[in-house]
Amino acid sequence: MLERVSSLKQQFQSELKQVTLSKDVEQLKVKYLGKKGPIQDLMLQLRDVSADVRPQLGKEINELKESISQLCEQAIETFFLVELSQRLSEETIDISEPGRRHYLGRKHPINAMLDEIIEIFIGMGFSVQEGPNLDNDFYNFEGLNFPPDHPARDMQDTFYISPENLLRTHTSTAQLKVMEANTPPIRIIAPGRCFRNETISSRSHVFFHQVEGLYINKGVSFADLMATMEEFWSKLFKGPVKTRFRPSYFPFVEPGLEVDIGCTNCHGSGCRLCKHTGWLEVVGAGMVHPNVLKNGGIDPEIYSGYAWGFGIERLAMLRYGMKDIRQFSENNLYFLEQFS
Ligand SMILES: [Zn+2]
Repeated sequence: MLERVSSLKQQFQSELKQVTLSKDVEQLKVKYLGKKGPIQDLMLQLRDVSADVRPQLGKEINELKESISQLCEQAIETFFLVELSQRLSEETIDISEPGRRHYLGRKHPINAMLDEIIEIFIGMGFSVQEGPNLDNDFYNFEGLNFPPDHPARDMQDTFYISPENLLRTHTSTAQLKVMEANTPPIRIIAPGRCFRNETISSRSHVFFHQVEGLYINKGVSFADLMATMEEFWSKLFKGPVKTRFRPSYFPFVEPGLEVDIGCTNCHGSGCRLCKHTGWLEVVGAGMVHPNVLKNGGIDPEIYSGYAWGFGIERLAMLRYGMKDIRQFSENNLYFLEQFS
């Protein structure tokens, strides 16, 4: 058995010399010291040897066991350090490798335009009134003096949720609410999203944005409306902008008008954008109809007011020379990235 101990010792040492990785040393340790290994085997055999040689033999086996364990630990530690330094040197940052690109978010062109418009009107003394997208027939139509047979009330144009409730077709829904909640002077703008049941094309969509404006006070006149419009458009286009007023019809104003601005592209000489007229149609406006004032609880004998509304998509399309309204809602990153 002593010979077996000494040959095991030699065998282990020669095997250890051939090992170069810490995980292989672990395996070697298990092979020799494990439950089914040769050392354990020797321990079992020890029971059968005579009592006079057993202590000496036991001591030899224990020493071999200790020595294998110690040599293994030392080898593992050495290899581990080598492997660690090797791994660290391999893991250094390769500065020539291209980095991963991070995309910065930016405002959607419609929101950017809305923010710009809101800021101008706040500077002119207006406050901002927001309302729900889902509203009822009274605030969207009836209270605003839409006769029951008005074509805009047709199911073709309006998304009805129930016979009474609908998705607002214009931001004019804010008018009666603000009249009910306040006494004049009232000077608000109401920006927001509107919905119409239209065929989606390059020129129209089922949703779009508007900004409504409303001013009610004693003695508000047509001249106030004209002055406000001129000032606003000049501020938006950062320079004098000509305005033109043409009679039109909207149920909630009397008289009603269309406001045109001088073409921002050709400055009046005529181009494709303005269809060679030199003018761009941008706003629906007028003096608030006495029936609407009454519906909002305001005495039309004492007060008068003006109102206007315009679409944001159309303005943004004019500004950026766009031909297709659908681009605003397609979430195409290449399109959106242009606006910073
Ligand atoms: Zn033009």
